[in-house]
Amino acid sequence: MQRRRFHVAGTVQGVGFRPWVYRVACERGLSGWVGNDEHGLVFEVEGPAADLDALAHALAHRPPPLALVERVDVRTVDSLFEPGFRIVASSSADAGDARVSADVAPCGACLREMADPDDRRYGYPFVNCTDCGPRYTIVKAVPYDRPATTMSSFALCADCQREYDDPLDRRFHAQPVACPACGPVLAWSGPGGPQTGPVALGAAVRCLRSGGIVGVKGVGGYHLACDAGNAVVVDELRRRKGRPDKPFAVMVLDEHAARQLCELDDASARALASARRPIVLAPWRGGPQVSASVAPRLTELGVMLPSSPLHVLLLQALDRPLVMTSGNPVDEPVLHRDDDARERLAPLADGLLLHDRAIHVRADDSVVRGTRDGAVQVLRRSRGWVPQPVRLPIPAGQPVLAVGAHLKSTVALGVGASVVVSEHLGDLTSYATYGAFTAAAHHLVRLSGSRPALVAHDLHPDYRSTRWAVESGLPLLEVQHHHAHISSCLVEHRLSSTVLGLAFDGTGLGPDGTLWGGEFLLADLAGFVRVGHLRPVALPGGEAAVREPWRMALSWLHRTLGPDVAAREGVGLDDRWAAVQSVVASGRAIETTSVGRLFDAVAALLGVGRRVSYEGQAAVELEALAGRAGPGTAGYELDVAGGVLDPAPLLAALLLDRDRGVPVEQLAARFHRSLARAAADLAEQLASQHRVDTVALSGGVFQNVLFSRLLGDRLRARGVRVLEHRDLSPNDGSISIGQAAVAAARTAAGGLDP
Ligand code: ZN
Ligand code: ZN
Ligand code: FE
Repeated sequence: MQRRRFHVAGTVQGVGFRPWVYRVACERGLSGWVGNDEHGLVFEVEGPAADLDALAHALAHRPPPLALVERVDVRTVDSLFEPGFRIVASSSADAGDARVSADVAPCGACLREMADPDDRRYGYPFVNCTDCGPRYTIVKAVPYDRPATTMSSFALCADCQREYDDPLDRRFHAQPVACPACGPVLAWSGPGGPQTGPVALGAAVRCLRSGGIVGVKGVGGYHLACDAGNAVVVDELRRRKGRPDKPFAVMVLDEHAARQLCELDDASARALASARRPIVLAPWRGGPQVSASVAPRLTELGVMLPSSPLHVLLLQALDRPLVMTSGNPVDEPVLHRDDDARERLAPLADGLLLHDRAIHVRADDSVVRGTRDGAVQVLRRSRGWVPQPVRLPIPAGQPVLAVGAHLKSTVALGVGASVVVSEHLGDLTSYATYGAFTAAAHHLVRLSGSRPALVAHDLHPDYRSTRWAVESGLPLLEVQHHHAHISSCLVEHRLSSTVLGLAFDGTGLGPDGTLWGGEFLLADLAGFVRVGHLRPVALPGGEAAVREPWRMALSWLHRTLGPDVAAREGVGLDDRWAAVQSVVASGRAIETTSVGRLFDAVAALLGVGRRVSYEGQAAVELEALAGRAGPGTAGYELDVAGGVLDPAPLLAALLLDRDRGVPVEQLAARFHRSLARAAADLAEQLASQHRVDTVALSGGVFQNVLFSRLLGDRLRARGVRVLEHRDLSPNDGSISIGQAAVAAARTAAGGLDP
């Protein structure tokens, strides 16, 4: 006979781990107890050594499906000879490093109950169990127990309490457990007057069916929903949201319905149906069920399955795809509080479908995209992923808070070998997003229980995240934007050796004071050397050049083909071409090596997105155009000398072909192929020159699946190892994790010079 104490760290709370231990212990007749503490799961078991070994084996090989075990510590303790096995209350603590699970989509068993007229949860939109339901978004503190969630205000009825207390019930210690007798209640505010209870659903359905726009409270925030097949209401939604072009996502009931709208490969279908329930971008079949204005001029559609039982009921009642776009005023984070929704979402919606289970932390829908090679790439890592930790290749010597970039902002907290990245926050220019950013930073610190010893931030002094870091009073560590990009790719591949990093994106400040974005960096986690880059050009008008890609076209032509060609083209680009050209000619505009802005310039020259309403729109439309081209026409040349990639000959040839009447689809495809080939050639040359065999691709440009594939294939064909993003986004959403990895490597390497 022996007694052992187990400590299990990782994502072990709110995932049914205590009942799992209880059941295994009872099956083998072991005595002892199990509970949560501020570090994770803790239990003591007493019995024959062989049975204790069997339990340890089960723990290692078949833990509860939602658990992520990071570490197990076991030690032998004195036998107590107590009878039976029990689940003890959590030891209370203000903070700890216990990990909360991400939110989980409704499971099959719960959906069957919801559909069963004889079940007491028939038609109940808040059904959940140990294997499913809200988690991260309802947790206020750790340890994860009902009093620490937004369910604390709902007292369990006798039936729910019985399920909660019965170790053999599938709701044993399921913290958000609820039923119509004791749990949250739906409410409607809109046409027909306020309603509560199941009738609220009917009112929302009638409003949607008659062409209305409804604010729907989801898992991590509000959506604005409308009939996806009704072009009039989709356009009205665009008008109200102030969002003329950016594609909307569509929610459908099941995979079968999704396949009617999109072509799904296996990886995309798996992602779609996974418990994380992200938006999946996939080739769009067209058809009347979804209006063309849902994703204007694009060949892909974002589709998702219900992430809550309420969505299931809505879609069952409507039996048609719904637009589901985040419920927020333009440039602000998704709204998640009822008072905000009533005040700020009501003007955008014809009615609100809400309920009284509070969302404590917002979490936008995550977005993934099929890569056509049997995988998906995460583009936005938020609901369903947060707060799942990521492992650092080099553990942090002291806790580090990384505050990310400016657009697609996230924050990250690294403690030891693991780092947790916050939900997607958005563009920090908006005051509301900045508020969400500070709240997320504090919440991460609170959930971890570790006080950060330093703050990693971007070089750009004007980013709000940088200013927040400076004002924090903590020791600071600057991380260059593109070094952070490449580092995030190294984190994903658990690599700490030196690679050649290709960081292609919009812009980020370089140490030389220019705006980088087409960089070839010899890098490891601790540092980098710039060994190549795109030819620099003027960025006329700063931010205006992002909104008006024609400015970049003018700038590129002026620099590469001369003022006369630029002037000739300028007339066709915009009325203000002369003023902008004089700025370019003056040499006063800041210089940029951004590949993202080169995509913008080429798009404008081909008549695509001369003015855009969201960042990257011109590039996205250019990729869609290239995707419509037939197979393989020859590409153009680019000059490569001294590590500088110069697209001058490409631009000249492109204009010539365009004026000859070559279809723009062909030209867009040729541009993709030519740039990818030249970048791969330069990368291969630099890699062999600096004796590295691995190339890492990061930055927002690598969201372009076509360009990534062309570049990656060419490198792989030459025997180069290529690291690409899959689980972490290539865009600025991963800057915080890259910064954390750099800070960890530098602190591990023997402390910082203040
Ligand atoms: Zn369930
Ligand atoms: Zn109940
Ligand atoms: Fe970037």
